[in-house]
Amino acid sequence: AAQNIESAFLFYSEEMNQRAKEHLRLETELRLALVNRELQLYYQPKVSLRSGRIVGAEALLRWRHPVRGLVSPGVFIPVAEETGLILELGSWVLEEACRQVREWKDANLIMPTIAVNLSARQFDQGLPARVAAVLERHGVQPEQIMLEITESLLVRGADNVIAIMNELVAMGMALALDDFGTGYSSLAYLKKFPISTLKIDRAFVTGLPYEENDCAIARAIVTMAQQLRQEIVAEGVETAEQMSFLRELGCDQLQGYLFSQPVPAADFERMLREGKRL
Ligand code: C2E
Ligand code: CA
Ligand code: CA
Ligand code: CA
Repeated sequence: AAQNIESAFLFYSEEMNQRAKEHLRLETELRLALVNRELQLYYQPKVSLRSGRIVGAEALLRWRHPVRGLVSPGVFIPVAEETGLILELGSWVLEEACRQVREWKDANLIMPTIAVNLSARQFDQGLPARVAAVLERHGVQPEQIMLEITESLLVRGADNVIAIMNELVAMGMALALDDFGTGYSSLAYLKKFPISTLKIDRAFVTGLPYEENDCAIARAIVTMAQQLRQEIVAEGVETAEQMSFLRELGCDQLQGYLFSQPVPAADFERMLREGKRL
């Protein structure tokens, strides 16, 4: 038995070792990805449930690895968060989104708001100034860019988080709370933060309209968000049934495969030009 335990342990530590190596390799390659221009932004439209029109888009990071192929952000963002590389990735994302918006504006496209995801690690006192500098460099209005943040940031709850948010809002930027319902913040608690948009997590949208619990959660989120005068975006909407249910609840926007997957800039541009509607 002792030997079994020993070999199980050896096996376990061998596996740990493999994972640590894989982690390290990803980190090294991710650094190179920035230099070698392997990163790209995809855009996923947000559509108004009232007008059926595109009213925004979320910029989502993609990594085209020369050997691994398309690596999912679900794989590399956590590594970037752990290593701190997320700071460089995050600046690249904001820079690229602004560059693209400027290019579209110069081409006379009527631009909806483009949302960028922010990691909690990017959220420090220097953030508003860094963001302002990028906007200015590209001649992009702050109203043109929305920042998506997650609940973990609110739970950290420091006063300076609220102060930083207020500064961004004072500049003219809108803040959205991402993946709402998956963390620990209650709706009542949300009042403290200058957040204009709530995004209902896909986890609750998936079960609509058949799972009673998901319906109850979606209904509660929409009702209370309306009282707080926040816009509500449902994430991960894949079916017409989900859309009808959300529309009846009074949800404002949907984002999901039902309308479009995240697509390269050129495809999103085409949707805007053609006035694609729900
Ligand atoms: P997220 O911010 O919650 O982004 C939404 C995710 O849901 C995206 O996954 C999107 O492709 C996916 N999605 C959208 N509609 C549907 C649908 O109808 N069905 C299904 N099954 N999925 C849908 P993606 O692009 O793989 O990104 C995963 C996560 O990686 C994002 O979740 C976000 O947390 C993170 N991420 C992506 N880009 C960035 C970035 O630039 N910065 C940071 N900090 N995080 C990012
Ligand atoms: Ca997001
Ligand atoms: Ca989300
Ligand atoms: Ca999500």
